[in-house]
Amino acid sequence: MSGLTGNDGNMARQRREMVEQLKCYGIGNPRVLDAFMTVKRHLFVEAASRPYAYDDCAWPIGYGQTISQPYTVAYMTSLLVERCPSGKVLEIGTGSGFQAAILDALGYRVFTIERIAGIYEMAGRALDNQGIPVARRLGDGTLGWPEEAPFDGIVITAAAPHEPETLLHQLADGGVMVVPIGDLGSQQMTVIRRVGERFEHEFFHGFAFVPLCGREGWPDTPA
Ligand code: SAM
Repeated sequence: MSGLTGNDGNMARQRREMVEQLKCYGIGNPRVLDAFMTVKRHLFVEAASRPYAYDDCAWPIGYGQTISQPYTVAYMTSLLVERCPSGKVLEIGTGSGFQAAILDALGYRVFTIERIAGIYEMAGRALDNQGIPVARRLGDGTLGWPEEAPFDGIVITAAAPHEPETLLHQLADGGVMVVPIGDLGSQQMTVIRRVGERFEHEFFHGFAFVPLCGREGWPDTPA
């Protein structure tokens, strides 16, 4: 990472430009915008993508997976922050570690699960190198993290075929899940709030995520 030091001013300028673009796209929550100003996205992408780290694009991170585009991360994070401003949050799909770092910058206590070992290790290095304190687990995130439940928030950063039942029951009363639900081509961003034993739903824009694979997701090799 030392080669980046001389580039930090340039990266900070690009980060400011990304935040201005997020505002133009309708992201208005000041806490979310501050977090995007703080977290160094260029430290979560592969070397080849680094010059473009602040473009509003998803980039490959290996193993057929991607770091989500900044707008998508900002949109999901805004849905969470506006309904669950603090507390304990579980992310499913660590990927690059960027979303987890954004949640940490917002002051949440962050837990994240990734199912692919190589990605889990890569994200761990990126988070550890920056001293970002996120609890991490390798495994099938659709099973949640029962020992740490209940969670005030759960953010699923992969495409779920249906509501993940086990995870819903790891929400605290009043807790909120943000999850893209749909088929493999497109999904509707969905917010589910637990109210006692009931679940209230809100529906938002369409997105396209890589699949959530696992016991309550898609089979391991989706068609
Ligand atoms: N949040 C990530 C970031 O900030 O870079 C982007 C996530 S990427 C779009 C989706 C990730 O979900 C992939 O790394 C994939 O391996 C992971 N994933 C898919 N199904 C999973 C599961 N059942 N449990 C944990 N991770 C899963």
